[in-house]
Formats: sequence, C-alpha cells, structure tokens
Amino acid sequence: MKIETSKKLFERATQIMPGGVNSPVRAFKAVGGNPLFIDRAEGSKIYDADGNEYIDYVCSWGPIILGHNNAAIREAAMRAAQKGMSFGAPTEAEVKLAEKIISYVPGVEMVRMVNSGTEAVMSALRLARAYTGRQKVIKFEGCYHGHADSMLVKAGSGALTLCEPDSAGVPENIAADTLVASYNDLVRVEELLKKKNIACVIVEPVAANMGVVLPKEGFLSGLKELCRAYGTLLIFDEVITGFRLCKGGAQEYYGVLADIVTYGKIIGGGMPLGAYGGKKEIMELVAPSGPVYQAGTLSGNPIAMAAGLAQLEALENRDVYAHIDKLCEKLAKGFSEIAQNHGIKSCVNRMGSLCCLFFGIENACDYKSVKKADTELYAKYFRGMLNENIYLAPSQFEAMFISYAHTEKDIEKTLDKFSILLSNG
Ligand SMILES: *Cc1c(COP(=O)(O)O)cnc(C)c1O
Repeated sequence: MKIETSKKLFERATQIMPGGVNSPVRAFKAVGGNPLFIDRAEGSKIYDADGNEYIDYVCSWGPIILGHNNAAIREAAMRAAQKGMSFGAPTEAEVKLAEKIISYVPGVEMVRMVNSGTEAVMSALRLARAYTGRQKVIKFEGCYHGHADSMLVKAGSGALTLCEPDSAGVPENIAADTLVASYNDLVRVEELLKKKNIACVIVEPVAANMGVVLPKEGFLSGLKELCRAYGTLLIFDEVITGFRLCKGGAQEYYGVLADIVTYGKIIGGGMPLGAYGGKKEIMELVAPSGPVYQAGTLSGNPIAMAAGLAQLEALENRDVYAHIDKLCEKLAKGFSEIAQNHGIKSCVNRMGSLCCLFFGIENACDYKSVKKADTELYAKYFRGMLNENIYLAPSQFEAMFISYAHTEKDIEKTLDKFSILLSNG
C-alpha cells in the first residue's frame, strides 16, 4: 500500500503544528508510524490522501453515527450555508434543535448550545458550583471530560484529596478541587461526599475513553441516590453516549436521570457542536436569565444547528439503533471467539454500538484493570489491521464506533482479516 502523500503531509505538518496534529490522539504515538491524512469519506469507508480505502471504526470518534457524508446532513448543512455562515443573533434553527433535544431526552427542560464537549462540561461544572454554592467536584479515574483544567486530573498515589494534574500548566489549586474516585466504586464516592462540600459528581454513564467500561448494576442509580442524600448534583457526561445508546441516551437506557447532562459529538452531525441541559430550575441560573456567565461568538452556529437537526431527525428511524447494535454484537462476538481460538488472552466490552477489544486482560471494569492491558500487542494488531485497510482507533484506550452505514460484509471482512492476522502470528 502506498502512503507517500500522508507521509509527506505529516513531515510538513510537524514543522508548523505541535506534533503535526490538532488533537493528540490522532498522531499515532501509541501505535507507532505516521498518521493517515484523510481526503474524503463515504458511508463506512474513509479514503486517505493516497486514495487508499479503509473500513472506518473511528467515525470521527463518535459523531458519524449515520455513516460518512450522509446525504440528509450534507444537504441540510449546504442549504444553511447558502444563507450565511454565522449571524451572532438568534435563529429558528436553534429553537428547533433545542426542541428536538428536549423531546428526545428525559429530564432535560432547557439547553444551551456551545461549540464542543469540553465547553459543555466546563460550563456544566460552573453551573453546578453556582447552584450548590460548593466548590469541589468528583470525577472518576479513566473518565475523560474534555481538556478543561479541572478535568485533567486523576488520583495522586493514594492521596485522593491531593490530586495531581495530568497535564502541565494546570494550576495546583484548581486540581485540588477535583477529587477522584474509582469507576464502579460507590464506597469511595460516599466517603468523599460525607464532607458535604461537593458541588457535583461527573461521570461517563458508560466509560468510553478508557476503552469501553460498563457501569455495574446499581452504579449509576447508586450515584443518583448518594448525590441526592448529600445535596450534590449529578452530571452525566453524555458526549459519547448521548443519542448513541438510544435517542434518550444513558438516562433513558438506564432509567437514571442526572441533574445536568452534557452533549457533543453526535449532536452536531460532524460539525463542532456541544450542549448542556437540565431542569429549568437549574438552567435558569445561566446568563442572561441568571448569574452564571457563559457565552460564545459562534454558539448556535446555523450550519451546525442544521447538521445536528438533520442527524437527530434521522435517529427517529428505529432501525438505526437495531442495525448498529446488531452489527456491533456480531463484531464483539467475533473478536472474542477468534482471540480465544488463537489462545490470546483478551476481553471484549460492548455497549450498544460501542465496543473495545482489550488484549492481555480478562476483565476490564475500572481504570486499574484497564491499565494492565497489553498495549504493545494492541499496537501490533492496529498496524496489522491498518495494513489490511481496516482503520481502528490508534490507541488501546478508545472505543470502536459502528455507524448505520456499516454492513454485515464490513464486519465479516474485518473479522476475516483479524483471524488471518492472528494465524500469521
Ligand atoms: C470527546 C469527549 C469530550 C470532549 O469533547 P470535545 O468536543 O472533544 O471537546 C468530553 N466528554 C466525553 C465523554 C468525551 O468523549
């Protein structure tokens, strides 16, 4: 396979952009080699700058739930673009998208549009702090909530109250307000909540940024009960799970309502768009109706609104979820069986159309167990699959995404390639 153009572009890019990319995980650091530069995409396939075709399981990290270059989304965005790119004033499209979100999602009565998942989370945290008059927040080890200062934190060794930032440049005093608990561990959460100074607990209802880790039975409802008991708000970060598990996201799927919910990825149909929402009583604290300042020059951008609305409207077709769940189940089962047949220690976690194949471990239920995965073997598998025109996430700790455009044939081909790869050692 010729990948000369990508290589040349990457050489140019590294001269003028940090690491040659605009988001770190794109750089293939965890798997070796140069990233592919993508020219176009269609359905379940992406095409690199040299014209090579790949079955895509990254799907732009989640937004592309209908498949690439979906005609309804493309046409809606183009119609909107013909009327102007941005007005900095209210539009009908914003009202329609907000109404659509509210009609899908239980418990959400009001929403505010922003431009990314990071912004949605950042704003939700500010809102929770304002509502409760408290400062500290609890997050879970291995959950990703975007790159705001306070969320780039995990537990410092043993000392849960003295957290160290994950990133240079995060002020210690900000990191100190973020307390970290272990995913699926309610005992720790209650210990932390007992101090009664916690504004909110933020969680990915299905953790999809450390591979895929499922909430244990009772974990989400337990969080809800604990939060209620201690006057703390519960934030579901549904940037990945929103509109993916089902129309109403994890709240509907698990029957647990959070106080504030954050969205991104799917909600924009591939355009930069995020949102946060919740009950009126909470959301009315946001400016200009309340004292919590949060603004955005391009927020509610008409093209993003049109693309998002077209995507959400398409999700009214129930076949979408039936199809993507079924294909993902087939993929997950196949991976599991093939790995087993070849005597490879592994585990496959799946929820709906999200799945992850972990090498070298038999159980992935929290950050500690996931960290034991064999990342070298993953890198080898990634490169082998890429060579066979299957595009996976360039890291063990990411989900695979199935879109409505994927076919049985895509899955079969993927599993065949995987089987051959393992047979060849
Ligand atoms: C991707 C992601 C974010 C950040 O969204 P961006 O649009 O990349 O800023 C936040 N939370 C979760 C759960 C995510 O997966």
